[in-house]
Amino acid sequence: MTGRSAKKPTADASDWRGSFPALHQEINGHPLVYLDSAASSQQPAAVIAAVQTYQECSHANVHRGVHTLSHRATEAYESARDRIADFINASNRTEIVFTSGTTDSINLVAQSFCRPTLKPGDRIVISHLEHHSNIVPWQMLCEQTGAELVVASIDESGQVDVSEITDLLDERVKLFALAHVSNALGTVLPVKEIIGIAKTRGIPVLLDGAQAVPHLPVDVQDLDCDFYTFSGHKMFGPTGTGVLFGRESLLEAMPPYQGGGDMILEVSFEGTTYNDLPYKFEAGTPNIAGFVGLGAAVKYLQCIGMQRICQHEKELLEYMTMQLSEIQDIRLIGTAANKASVQSFMLADIHPHDVGTILDHQGVAIRTGHHCAMPVMEYFGIPGTARASLALYNTRDDVDALVAALHAAHKIFS
Ligand code: PMP
Repeated sequence: MTGRSAKKPTADASDWRGSFPALHQEINGHPLVYLDSAASSQQPAAVIAAVQTYQECSHANVHRGVHTLSHRATEAYESARDRIADFINASNRTEIVFTSGTTDSINLVAQSFCRPTLKPGDRIVISHLEHHSNIVPWQMLCEQTGAELVVASIDESGQVDVSEITDLLDERVKLFALAHVSNALGTVLPVKEIIGIAKTRGIPVLLDGAQAVPHLPVDVQDLDCDFYTFSGHKMFGPTGTGVLFGRESLLEAMPPYQGGGDMILEVSFEGTTYNDLPYKFEAGTPNIAGFVGLGAAVKYLQCIGMQRICQHEKELLEYMTMQLSEIQDIRLIGTAANKASVQSFMLADIHPHDVGTILDHQGVAIRTGHHCAMPVMEYFGIPGTARASLALYNTRDDVDALVAALHAAHKIFS
């Protein structure tokens, strides 16, 4: 379907927008048009209220106390885990480890799953379009162990080549770590197909789902991945919250990542017995209020339904891509057939930071720069891009405002 003939997004999108207080303000004298949700999304009133109620009525430390507030805090924190397990269809709540974000989740897997057994000659495979958080932990791991980091290429559209990946996945590969959706290009990767190939060769797969979970229905059992990582602040929850889904048999066999409170059963100077899953990986007092908020964010998403959100954003992305492609001197970066929520671009020879600043003067918030994906920028031979990213609360009016602001920017520089 082309952007022009695309159906108008359902009227619901403007209802959804109404739930987000931050969207109802003026920036530089213009109504805010927020197109930077790939960096961090706004929070609905339900999330803000859940955190506030928790802070006002239920805050105490979790798991340890016998008093009522500690019980309430534990109940609120643990029910967020149940909700998230249900949301991504984990087979057991013990497979849901709370972390501080995608970066933390990936580092946990690198250090706890891979490091103890990795040796020179072994390989970790990633793709060329990864976020730095799915590159640098593997580089560090390879420096620590003498293993080799191998990078699967991308094409001009920003898609990976499944046949190249098939060739790369040999017996030397100890883990394949791949984005589900690219943050810089919006590409949706053929992860199910790739996991199927990896499985036949016994290679575990980690998916970086930071840009997928807010936009697509995710079912970890259907995907059959071994690890799945994502961040609360990109899915309408608070910052400092994240999730590592791990297959229970793998998590069981992994040593703890960090030592401290909550991850132990018993400590003596002779030795320590570790706690059960998932607490073995949750050392120290967690971000309790944050996870209460994340639980509320997931409830919000479940009430709308991920299928509806996905359909709305698909239509809106088609519309945005079509409208952007008609702007004079624009170069779209990231043109894969299967995409979600993101469009990167260059406008004439204007530096992306200048585009972003001019847009901000008109109330339009986009991201500019390398988007923590410098190898992608190097591949396209550019210093960075301007990136508009959508979430469930965006509408065609937002896209129209973006396009008008870009016309104004083009005029200023021509
Ligand atoms: N992976 C991807 C694809 C991302 O988009 C991001 C955030 N931009 C990250 C990882 C890192 O997420 P966080 O900073 O929340 O740990």
